[in-house]
Amino acid sequence: MWECSECLIENDLDPDAEEGQILICMECDAEFEILTLEPLELERLELVEDDDDDGGSIESRGWDEEE
Ligand SMILES: [Zn+2]
Repeated sequence: MWECSECLIENDLDPDAEEGQILICMECDAEFEILTLEPLELERLELVEDDDDDGGSIESRGWDEEE
C-alpha cells in the first residue's frame, strides 16, 4: 500500500515494484516515482503539459499577404 500525497487515498502497491518505477494514483492520476522500497519513499512527479504529439517542431510561416 502507498498513500497518495495529493488525495490521500491508499493505492495497492505492485508486489514486483522496483525502485525508479512510476506509480500512478488510481484516484487522481498523480504520478510518483519510487525512490526507495525499504522504507517506501515516493517522489511526486510534476505534470508537464506538453501537447507536442508528433515531436516535430511547428513554426508558423507568417503568411501575411494582402494583395
Ligand atoms: Zn491521488
